[in-house]
Formats: sequence, C-alpha cells, structure tokens
Amino acid sequence: MMAAIELRDVRKSFQSLEVIRGISLTVGEGAFTVFVGPSGCGKSTLLRMIAGLEEIGSGEIRIDGRRCDHLLPAARGLAMVFQSYALYPHMSVGQNLRFGLENLKVPKAEIDARVARAADILEISHLMKRRPSQLSGGQSQRVAIGRAIVKEPKAFLFDEPLSNLDAELRVKMRGELVALHRRLGSTMVYVTHDQVEAMTMADQIVVLREGAVEQVGAPIDLYARPANQFVAGFLGAPQ
Ligand code: ADP
Ligand code: MG
Repeated sequence: MMAAIELRDVRKSFQSLEVIRGISLTVGEGAFTVFVGPSGCGKSTLLRMIAGLEEIGSGEIRIDGRRCDHLLPAARGLAMVFQSYALYPHMSVGQNLRFGLENLKVPKAEIDARVARAADILEISHLMKRRPSQLSGGQSQRVAIGRAIVKEPKAFLFDEPLSNLDAELRVKMRGELVALHRRLGSTMVYVTHDQVEAMTMADQIVVLREGAVEQVGAPIDLYARPANQFVAGFLGAPQ
C-alpha cells in the first residue's frame, strides 16, 4: 500500500505564464516528503497535478513506476486532504467517511471496519452523527484526514492542511500527523509555506521557488549545507 512518486520534467503554464518550470523529483516510498516554498511558487499546482486534479502541461508522473499522468484522479490510488477540509456539508461525519467507499462498491462490513479504525486512530468516534457545521476546525480536519485514511491510498497528499487552525492546535496536529505517518507507514506528500512545519515534520524536504526545485534533502542537510542563499535564507540557516 505504499508508492513512490516520480516526476520527470513536469511543466505547466496558465495562459502564457509558466508556473511549473521543469520539475523532476522522486518522492520516496513510505517517506514523509514536504514541498515547501513561498506563496505562489507552485506547490498547490504541483500537488494537484500529482492528484490528477490539474492536467500537466508536459512531462511525466509515475506512481510505483507506472505512468499515471493520463489517469483520472480516482484511478491513481491517492488521497488528498485540503486546507479547506472540503467535507460534504449535508452529510454527517459518519456519512462523510463512508461516502467515497460506497461509491467504490466496497462491501459494507469492510466499510464499517475501515471507518471504525480511522475514527479510532483520529479520536473522532464520538462525532459520527454530527454535521460539519457542528465541528471545530480541528475536528473538521480530523474528519478530512479520516476520509483519506479509509481509502487506504497508496499515498496521501496534503495541501496546507493545518493553515486554518489556531497556533496551538497546529502544533499539536503536526505531532499527530507525524505519529500517523509512523503508524500507517504510508507515503505522504505534504505541502506548506511554513518552514517550521517542513523542518520538524519531513523525512525529505523539496524546496521550491518560482516553479522550480532549489534543493532536495533531509532537514539537517538543508540546514547544514544549503545549496544557495535562497535556501539558506528561506529555511533560516545562518548565511
Ligand atoms: P502555491 O500553492 O505555492 O501558493 P499555486 O500553485 O497556487 O502556488 O500557484 C502558482 C502560480 O500559478 C501563481 O502565480 C498562481 O497565481 C498561478 N495559478 C494557479 N492556479 C491558476 C489558475 N487556475 N489560473 C491561472 N493562474 C493560476
Ligand atoms: Mg497553495
């Protein structure tokens, strides 16, 4: 249930503006990889192209070695968690967790088991009958993560999932997501503009700037041996 994700010379333009300028990288199988860079550098666009929510301009995306840049999102075996939670407002928490699996015709007993397990991991079992409007931000984000977990995806894609939470909860959820990664062992790609999140959560960091990769490495490597002034300045290392 783990996948490596490979990008080869991926490019994307909106009108005449090239926002992804030839990105090649490998997301290690089972690793917690963070794409970090300033607002507008192309992080969401890149993640959406991996998810299949945005067409690539050119290049290749492979999951487990298999070319997938032509596949619909549902066929890629990935699960994405958004900053905005994107819960279905008219459904209970329980229904939100079940909905995707029912669509995929997963047997009911299997759905029950997966939902119970995810609810247990995220400590949301007591919220199953509530509507999204009756949840706090932190609870909403747990449900959104739960909805990804029940899919048992080959990889999780997170787009700034903690940005809407208050500072204290954000710190708590960082720790919980790292613990979740350890527990599931899944490949996770996590997008953020927050250097602290990148440095504290990642196995592997990809530093992006204006649609290109500046450096890839473990947090300690980027801190100790930044490739250039941008990386050093952005990650707050001494220059
Ligand atoms: P980030 O997530 O790093 O903040 P984005 O991927 O959202 O960056 O955006 C990268 C660049 O692409 C920005 O200049 C943004 O304005 C532009 N962009 C993103 N989506 C669209 C779109 N659908 N149409 C036109 N420009 C877009
Ligand atoms: Mg973004």
